[in-house]
Amino acid sequence: MITIQGKGVSKGIAKGPIYFFRSPDASVTKKTVADVAGEKARLAAAQAASIAQLNDLAEKCQKDAGEDMAMLFETHAMFVEDEDFVQSIMDILEEESCNAEYAVDEAGKQFSAMFAAMDDAYMQARAADIKDVARRILDNLTGAAAGGIDSEEPVLLAADDLAPSETLQLDKSKILGFVTRGGSGNSHTAILARTMGIPAICSAGEALLESYQGRMSYIDGETGQLIIDPDPITLAALKEKFEKQAELKTLLETMKGQEDVTLDGKKIMLYCNIGSPEDVTAVLNNDGQGIGLFRSEFLYLRASDYPTEDEQFEAYRTVAAAMNGKRVVIRTLDIGADKQVDYFNMKKEENPALGVRAIRICLNRPEVFRTQLRALYRASVYGKIAIMFPMITSVWEVKECRRACKSVMKELDAEGIPYDPDTEIGIMIETPASVLVAPELAELVDFFSVGTNDLTQYTLACDRQANDLGKFFDPHHPAVLRALKMAADAAHKAGIWIGICGELGADLTMLPTFLAIGIDELSVSPASVLPLRAAIRQSIAKTCTLEKLEC
Ligand code: PEP
Ligand code: MG
Repeated sequence: MITIQGKGVSKGIAKGPIYFFRSPDASVTKKTVADVAGEKARLAAAQAASIAQLNDLAEKCQKDAGEDMAMLFETHAMFVEDEDFVQSIMDILEEESCNAEYAVDEAGKQFSAMFAAMDDAYMQARAADIKDVARRILDNLTGAAAGGIDSEEPVLLAADDLAPSETLQLDKSKILGFVTRGGSGNSHTAILARTMGIPAICSAGEALLESYQGRMSYIDGETGQLIIDPDPITLAALKEKFEKQAELKTLLETMKGQEDVTLDGKKIMLYCNIGSPEDVTAVLNNDGQGIGLFRSEFLYLRASDYPTEDEQFEAYRTVAAAMNGKRVVIRTLDIGADKQVDYFNMKKEENPALGVRAIRICLNRPEVFRTQLRALYRASVYGKIAIMFPMITSVWEVKECRRACKSVMKELDAEGIPYDPDTEIGIMIETPASVLVAPELAELVDFFSVGTNDLTQYTLACDRQANDLGKFFDPHHPAVLRALKMAADAAHKAGIWIGICGELGADLTMLPTFLAIGIDELSVSPASVLPLRAAIRQSIAKTCTLEKLEC
């Protein structure tokens, strides 16, 4: 039996073979080959598969995502066969008698560097397309087909960690659980696992060896253990847990359709966090009463160029319509820091978490902001959309955001395009600055939503991505909780509602504190809705205390 101790970040037991995710950015090894003709044949097959996939994607986009996206994939398909690009791969293969992977990787790097060095901004942006095309051919060469999982059966996905854009591409029906060498409870792998309601472990470290590929194993998301070939006693314990898990699931099913109300009548809005329109299914399956955080950046991370207004409109409309009149809070673009998007061509920063991210990008690039706001307002007539701005620190930022909204509404009026003029506008409370000026901010908006992941990071000066900060990164710290109370008091004084959309919202041990503070809404991963509902329904708000705010 091999036991690897990591940190459990999404509860539950999962059993399956370990499968290592090949990161698209993983380095490609050069190998000398005797059979260059054989490599050329492999290359031809990978090119054909890539073209077929890209044509499929283009066709799909024609139906669901609009003409521009479709054209992008068509262009990618053409580039797979581009004469100069293919010649460059062939030259490397022949001159260096190497494997096709190496030749594709090298040619891809050369071409993307060449485009990146051009003067024209449009041509520069094509560098990302070329990287994408080379990556696709590579995936087809190595067998890591689109989705990153080349396995017939579902697997326990192992990786160093997954970037946000990688999590979007995964074929989620193939994943039973996650185990990563790095990452933290706030990493995107952990967030994705909780959204999917599957077990996950992070910080497993170097003990997670690639040679375990294919070994039948168990993930225990509670203890944070990955167990390979369990001995009979451990196996019996795991089976017992597995059965209890199934029993609990049945019990939680009875919570569906029930109200989110405490025994003494305090109602809570129990909403869900989602990362893409596909996650709405999980929201509906778990009876979420709304969406409290739709991370709209998925659209930008998934694309290789700025998503158009129509593409965005389609995505927001789909979610709003699927939620059928229930509130859908859509957060405007929150990239920068750990979420990098090539085509934004952002300058390298020493401290990206303190740099040009989130609302700062939107205020610096009014055109990008305007496109998103137009799409949001256009979608507002298809459901109950609320717009939320991330990473606010100052009153002037909110005033500028409101001005941008007004200007978009005026444009739509002039064009005769319908929108909901009463669309709610809210902000995220994620910085100590926003807490300190919360009374003034509350006068300008309809709601606050506290991003406890970032609020913890900025209040405690602790990098949320670092996995070795251990107990220093503590969302239960009285400073974070007092900040939460200050924001709640300011919100209620101004007559607006306040929610929590950070990961802390799903922490059942914190529910009494949230009730004592008077939090109105909790937005959590879909899988956390029913356990939280069960806990809310057993609580008595009046007897909850603020003891956790004491040092
Ligand atoms: C947060 O910071 O708590 C939050 C919800 O936003 P994100 O995790 O996407 O930064
Ligand atoms: Mg945040």
